[in-house]
Amino acid sequence: MSVLVYIENTDGQLKKSAFEVATYGKDIATQLNTEAIALSIGDISTDELSKLGAYGISKVYHVTNDDLKTFVNQAYASIVAAAAKQENASVVVLSNTFSGKGLAPRLATKLEAGIVSGAISLPTINGNTFEVQKTAFSNKAIATVVVDSAVKVITINPNSYTVKEVGGSAALENFTAPVQSSDFSTVVKDIVRATDKISLPEAEIVVSAGRGMKGPENWSMIEELAEVLGAATACSKPVSDAGWRPHSEHVGQTGIVVSPNLYIAIGISGAIQHLAGVSSSKTIVVINKDPEAPFFKVADYGIVGDAFTIVPKLIEALKAH
Ligand code: FAD
Repeated sequence: MSVLVYIENTDGQLKKSAFEVATYGKDIATQLNTEAIALSIGDISTDELSKLGAYGISKVYHVTNDDLKTFVNQAYASIVAAAAKQENASVVVLSNTFSGKGLAPRLATKLEAGIVSGAISLPTINGNTFEVQKTAFSNKAIATVVVDSAVKVITINPNSYTVKEVGGSAALENFTAPVQSSDFSTVVKDIVRATDKISLPEAEIVVSAGRGMKGPENWSMIEELAEVLGAATACSKPVSDAGWRPHSEHVGQTGIVVSPNLYIAIGISGAIQHLAGVSSSKTIVVINKDPEAPFFKVADYGIVGDAFTIVPKLIEALKAH
């Protein structure tokens, strides 16, 4: 028996979520008195993969070839399932990212496993039964899911589990990809990266702005504030619908769900659909000229005033710091 964690990388660098799933998988493995093994697919150096040893991973499988350089859902799922079977994994852990959300249900089918998506804490384990807390109803509630299948697939929300270094080293091994041509019925032909900026779902700080910014020409101050803070930028739905910002930045019930340490909302009213995507942020700062804006009800810190006056002052103060 073992715990298998699926590790993601971007351009050959382990993603922050990789360390999070490694820690989460290791902590489950400790409870089960077994080992945590990682699997990485695609181009990444052995030096980079060996970093996982410090997070309690005992062995890292790596598989790559030209067909696997970009994410292919069916093929990646076949590989993760094969590794899980080879290692007799009773738990497979993934991050609840774009890839994780695509892989998890396929894995659950292939492994005849129960699935929990969007976990936010370690399971309570009682024999073969896991009780796992996850977010539900667009982050408005926390559900406790009971899974008692022999194999369990769990995806964890980015930024919901504390990464811990425990020391140690991992053995690196190549894994032979058990893929067939039918696994490549859908392939990604080209990836056009819209931005080199910090990935929004994984960002620790998010600077987000809404219709209060009046138009796309005013976003330079939002970007500058984000840059000074090392933050990702985000926006409300009407802003992306109007084409002021890309849809990839739209946060909320119908957009991306974020749980950063700090969420700064500028000129956003705080409609329930927007809050659904940000309510698990650890600290929320709201800047709005309307003291009655609903966002203030969930804010940890609020500044009532004109964003066009406050944001430049904030940037100036942060730069001087
Ligand atoms: P507004 O509601 O227009 O608010 C602008 C705010 O800016 C106001 O509070 C105003 O006081 C403030 N402001 C104006 N000028 C300034 C200034 N100079 N300085 C400071 N503050 C200023 N919305 C989402 O964001 N995400 C979703 O996922 C989402 N999903 C939806 C799903 C459904 C089914 C529906 C019906 C709606 C959804 N919406 C979503 C839309 C949502 O209901 C709101 O309409 C939207 O969030 C409002 O965006 P906003 O706050 O940017 O704009």
